[in-house]
Amino acid sequence: MIKKEAKDWLERTKVVHAGELPDAVTGASAPNLVMSSTFVVEANLPFSAEDISEDMPHIYTRWSNPTVAQLESKLCALDNAEACLCFASGMAAVTGLFTELLSQGDHLLLSDVTYAGVREFSNDILPKFGVEVTTVTMSDLAAVEAALQPNTKLVWIETPCNPLMRLTDIEAVASLVHGVGAVLGVDSTFASPIATKPLDLGADYVMHSLTKYIGGHGDAMGGAILSNKQAIADLRKSVGIHSGAVLSPFNAWLIMRGAATLSLRMKAHEENALKVASFLEVQPKVSQVCYPGLPSHPQHDLAKKQMRNYSGMLTFQVADGVAMAEQLSKKLSVFHYAVSLGHHRSLIYYMATDELQASSYKLTKEQLESYRAFAGEGLFRVSVGIEDAQDLCDDLAQALA
Ligand SMILES: *Cc1c(COP(=O)(O)O)cnc(C)c1O
Repeated sequence: MIKKEAKDWLERTKVVHAGELPDAVTGASAPNLVMSSTFVVEANLPFSAEDISEDMPHIYTRWSNPTVAQLESKLCALDNAEACLCFASGMAAVTGLFTELLSQGDHLLLSDVTYAGVREFSNDILPKFGVEVTTVTMSDLAAVEAALQPNTKLVWIETPCNPLMRLTDIEAVASLVHGVGAVLGVDSTFASPIATKPLDLGADYVMHSLTKYIGGHGDAMGGAILSNKQAIADLRKSVGIHSGAVLSPFNAWLIMRGAATLSLRMKAHEENALKVASFLEVQPKVSQVCYPGLPSHPQHDLAKKQMRNYSGMLTFQVADGVAMAEQLSKKLSVFHYAVSLGHHRSLIYYMATDELQASSYKLTKEQLESYRAFAGEGLFRVSVGIEDAQDLCDDLAQALA
């Protein structure tokens, strides 16, 4: 039998082994952490970013680094991508890709609900450089079709989207986007590569905040963009090397160590989230629960089609969210009342609709109506961790009382 390559392994083998090889000199089984910023090389290697090719030896860590390269290659195996570039954070990955792809006169079509930082960057910074930005509710395909313009260069979606848990049909949107010659980027942070592989569904770029599920332990920030070889080579030259928001090798090492258990953790996140969501659905003080894995999610059929794991993110609403936020922050003992998500610990945070609308989203009347259908006056965003589900439900029960 021919020895299988990383791309042919099954997923749990990939998360453990892909991208990692025993050290050729020492035989070390665990990945080396190479913190060196520079590398001893032969004379007369090209020195300008313009002349750098992907197969060159490591020269300087802002250009490439052996530890970061191992993580990049693991992420490629997980998302069925040809190439990957890691960044210092998820935001550095998004803003790097946007500045690479968009020029003066281009149009960015953005999902009306995205990670708030992405929306704020698009509202406040991109127009300064002559980029036109409009937004649309991406779950409404007719609206997406109508919002595409002759100068649309990039369409950016997030599924499930933060914080609503509303889904976008990647395959359907990809075909509309390609119809006008634009490219589609997907922020797949909430899904992780275990749930959804956007490149297989027609997306041109996939992005992850490695700070969330992939790192998984809340102790290292990072981001990644995955795409074809040429696209990533271009991105490395123009954005990695010149903007310089590259991933620290130490964080790459931590994230790689976290990623080894990604399949196991996602299984536990999903199992716990389903239990916590079902528990919340019958609590008298809870008016609405939103979790893609529940039949009550308005897009449960799309979730079944597009997600191989429903992930650990859910939201719920109560009558007076502001007062309840105060109460939960004081009474919860297992959950941490904190932003971020995808960590092994359970996290919860309240997001008031009016506040987000004013600071970040600036939705139209119709968009806001659709937002309120999922969020009402505000929602608790819950990142269900991998603790015992019974302890999580008990903690919520005593804190909600
Ligand atoms: C957290 C997050 C980001 C930003 O990632 P950072 O690593 O915090 O910069 C982008 N998109 C989504 C969906 C996120 O949850």
